[in-house]
Amino acid sequence: MQTRPLAGKTALVTGSTSGIGLGIAQALAAEGAAIVFNGFGDAAHIAALQKQTAEQFGVKTAYFGADMTKPAEIEQMMNDALAQFGSIDILVNNAGIQHVANVEDFPVERWDAVIAINLTSAFHTTRLALPAMKQKNWGRIINIASAHGLVASAGKSAYVASKHGIVGLTKVTALENAQTGITCNAICPGWVLTPLVQKQVDARAAANSISIDQAKRELLMEKQPSGEFVTPEQLGALAVFMCSDAASQVRGVAWNMDGGWVAQ
Ligand code: NAD
Repeated sequence: MQTRPLAGKTALVTGSTSGIGLGIAQALAAEGAAIVFNGFGDAAHIAALQKQTAEQFGVKTAYFGADMTKPAEIEQMMNDALAQFGSIDILVNNAGIQHVANVEDFPVERWDAVIAINLTSAFHTTRLALPAMKQKNWGRIINIASAHGLVASAGKSAYVASKHGIVGLTKVTALENAQTGITCNAICPGWVLTPLVQKQVDARAAANSISIDQAKRELLMEKQPSGEFVTPEQLGALAVFMCSDAASQVRGVAWNMDGGWVAQ
């Protein structure tokens, strides 16, 4: 049997119990990477995800429930994952939340939580992953930003600030490691139908007294010219490419996969 491209590598994907993170974790596992899961959720559901990934792709898996708002828990997770697997070769900073409100009404506690999870947690995982990556002179850091890392929408001040911020962190991390085998890039998805977006679809349906299907269509047509959702599988395939040798000179990009959103 041919060796899979990511065999022998370990990938830690934050927020991988759901949505895009799960899609990326499974795409990396399909290429042979051991997977460290993180994120919230029902313990039995998470155990089943781990088991299914291990069995389907023949890779080792682990799970750490670190809360991405808590630097001490992030540090513990990184130490434990390094101790268990010997290295974290691929780091995908994906955990994220949304809150929608105008600036003057934005709850301060929600602002702090969005910035902590969507931006500051990636600073902590990155600073803690880099020393071991440098020792091996190989690493891939992939930050899941958003179309909102490139353009803005009303009502999303904390989210847009966090996503523009992570695009900046991506560029600096890429530059500081430009002469090493470590790359850092961002992926900027448009609308993907995950629990994070389903909440926004439901809120729109309730506010405008329209069906869920109509709310989905309106949400898409407002921003995403293709009129179709991006899928976690498509984002997983882009992450796999970023981990390949072919992508070794792709450094510091913010790569949108957004059905044409930011082309407008
Ligand atoms: P999701 O709600 O399906 O998944 C979010 C994941 O983050 C879950 O695993 C959740 O448990 C985890 N998480 C949340 N708070 C956490 C915390 N404090 N500590 C640890 N884990 C935590 O959402 P998703 O749509 O898959 O979003 C994943 C990433 O993609 C986010 O960064 C989001 O901003 C980004 N994104 C999503 C879309 C979209 O349309 N869905 C578009 C662009 C970018």
